[in-house]
Amino acid sequence: MKKIVMKFGGTSVGTGENIRHVADLVTKYAKDNKVAVVVSALAGVTNSLIETGCQAKKSDEKHIQTFTAELRKKHTDAISTAITSKAIQKEVAQITENTIAELEKVLTGICYVGEITPKSKDYVMSFGERLSAPIVWGAIKDHKAESQCFTGKDAGIVTNSNFGEADPLMNFTAHLIRERLSPLLEKNIIPVVTGFIAADQDGVVTTVGRGGSDYTATILGVALQVDEVWIWTDVDGIMTTDPKIVPSARMLPQLSYQEAAEMAIFGAKAMHPRALGPVSKENIPVRIRNTAHPENPGTLITKEPIANAKEAVKAVAMIKDVAMLNVYGAAMVGAPGSYAKVFDVLGKNSINVMMISAAASEANISMVIKRGLLGRAVSNLEIALQERGGIVSEVTTEDDVAVIAVMGANMKGTLGVASKIFSTVAKKGINIRMIAQGSSELNISFVVKEKDGAAVVRAIHEEFNLDKN
Ligand code: ADP
Ligand code: ASP
Ligand code: MG
Repeated sequence: MKKIVMKFGGTSVGTGENIRHVADLVTKYAKDNKVAVVVSALAGVTNSLIETGCQAKKSDEKHIQTFTAELRKKHTDAISTAITSKAIQKEVAQITENTIAELEKVLTGICYVGEITPKSKDYVMSFGERLSAPIVWGAIKDHKAESQCFTGKDAGIVTNSNFGEADPLMNFTAHLIRERLSPLLEKNIIPVVTGFIAADQDGVVTTVGRGGSDYTATILGVALQVDEVWIWTDVDGIMTTDPKIVPSARMLPQLSYQEAAEMAIFGAKAMHPRALGPVSKENIPVRIRNTAHPENPGTLITKEPIANAKEAVKAVAMIKDVAMLNVYGAAMVGAPGSYAKVFDVLGKNSINVMMISAAASEANISMVIKRGLLGRAVSNLEIALQERGGIVSEVTTEDDVAVIAVMGANMKGTLGVASKIFSTVAKKGINIRMIAQGSSELNISFVVKEKDGAAVVRAIHEEFNLDKN
């Protein structure tokens, strides 16, 4: 008997049929194990909530009603397919109805105020998981298993107030989760918890970052001291690259926390970048598995990479939705603290710098940031330019770029990897805009035009024979 947290991603709960299948899996494993479940929003719902929430500020009530009607239909359709018992259907449909009525009010409020803040955006985004989890809960009950449904907040996840990218106050959270969920596991009652969403100390809804249900799962895993955390998704595990770009991408059976985290940070969407933090400290293994192929073992992530890893390069990833920011200033050369000032301006405006490269001779720094933050970065740097005259003379941007990251724990000991990567790109006639090597030496990353990104990933995957090792 094992204690397991199982997280089901948006694609695994995309339709009523999929949700039924999820309930099959959960109840099958719950016969011999103690299982807690974490669920994402139905595929596509979070994106549509963000889109409508952001439009709501300049939208009208009719548009909001059209949107909520579609959302209601999507979820009621899922209820009628996932659940057979009329009584349970009715119970879940009532929750759906109440939740949608609340969403309608929130969107209308945003529409009248004409503004969406990071705080209200988190509130809007929370509705995806608030709508999906009760359906999964209903489907599990429909399988004659005992279950109880929680929001992340009710389960006890308390975060800081960094809306959009909140992090848990882990000690407090672990205490609350243990208090609320452990007694259920003891009685073989399956807790179903909304992924992604939590609350700060004042009880205000927060989210832990896009793709954050993975993070919810590992937070729960640590709090409940489980044997394993299983991340169920729509691919066989973590692969040598995104199978949507290279169909022959190969599943990696085993990775270390460090390697998997590096891959997550650098674009392997299969895992939330901060999710491995809590479990790696406690040495709790994580398994990535395919809902459609539960017979496959998936990728196992543990402390030690298995000795199978002789190859220098293990994986290649592309991060889209980024932009390059170049800051120039003659006074930057040799002026103590001038880089610090640039980063200070960005840091104070909550702009995370994903990649940095500096060439002293040219008196500039190039940085990569999320594309959506570009406007905020440039305007604040320009204000700083005016205020602190002389440090920054010019700020230029490129917003049609992507980062390519080539990863592998053995890269540091292997000569010639970088030159092989760059000659592969050169042979394709593709221009590299910027280069950086992580201090961990687990990856080499560089920037190309986004339109060239997929071709670069394919070329590197082929050059290093990643589909064959
Ligand atoms: P979920 O809804 O289950 O959370 P995600 O869409 O967040 O699923 O992540 C799974 C997707 O990540 C896959 O469908 C795949 O296209 C993409 N992906 C990108 N890079 C990788 C990689 N290296 N290994 C596996 N999947 C990857
Ligand atoms: N629904 C959230 C998102 O789309 C969280 C998740 O899927 O993990 O980002
Ligand atoms: Mg995900």
